[in-house]
Amino acid sequence: MIEIYKKLPGTNCRECGESTCMAFALKVKNAQCKMSECPYVKHEDEENLTEEPIVTMGNNYKRVSNELEEEIKCVDLKEAAEAIGGNYEDRNGGGVIRLKMMNNEYEVRNEGLFKGNQYCQDSWSKIIIYDYVRMKGNISLTGDWVSLGHFPNTASHSKAFQKKAETKIAGKFDNNMSGLKERCRELEGVEVHGKIKADYVCGFKLLPRVPMYLCFWEADEEFPSSCKLHLDTSAEAYIDIEYLAYLLEWFVKIFVEC
Ligand code: SF4
Repeated sequence: MIEIYKKLPGTNCRECGESTCMAFALKVKNAQCKMSECPYVKHEDEENLTEEPIVTMGNNYKRVSNELEEEIKCVDLKEAAEAIGGNYEDRNGGGVIRLKMMNNEYEVRNEGLFKGNQYCQDSWSKIIIYDYVRMKGNISLTGDWVSLGHFPNTASHSKAFQKKAETKIAGKFDNNMSGLKERCRELEGVEVHGKIKADYVCGFKLLPRVPMYLCFWEADEEFPSSCKLHLDTSAEAYIDIEYLAYLLEWFVKIFVEC
């Protein structure tokens, strides 16, 4: 990340959409942005970096997903299904866990992850679901809602991301409560009452036992619209928090694309 940062002007001008050059460098490192999205990067610097960290990160995701896939072959899928709220099926002598990740159906089989009847090629889907299965969380919801930054060892970018994600939702649905509710319904959200004082609270299942609560406050004379994304504290028993941060980011991307 530092190598990437050194190629940037360091002016934090925000033209790339990130609040700082450092945040942009981190996104480039994680292959979430391209160097060319900063208009001030010299072409030769962009080329120099293309070979090293960007490609390596992409390969890293693939390597991690392959390693987890190997690990999953040794997991008792029946036991795991019970622990994570998946549906277990014996099929042709092999165990299968059926589960949903953000409204998409997946199957974890001995030979890997499947979406529909197709082997899933997406490294991030595999990383998240394999990690969820192997962790076998198996604890009840605590009912304590916290933000992502609450969890120990949360990388600073996870906290920064959440702030940005919340701002994105608040901006998109500013003065549009009916649009927000409609979008929540489309994504199978369930309205929640009484837990938090907000104008609207809606619960989503990111994974069967990993709920996320979107809390929204409408603008008034004093404050603009705002949004908070809360997680149950039990989430850390079910999934690595860095992967959970990615899942939240994914959710927000889908949520505002309407
Ligand atoms: S556009 Fe370039 S200089 Fe401006 S904040 Fe982004 S990375 Fe930094």
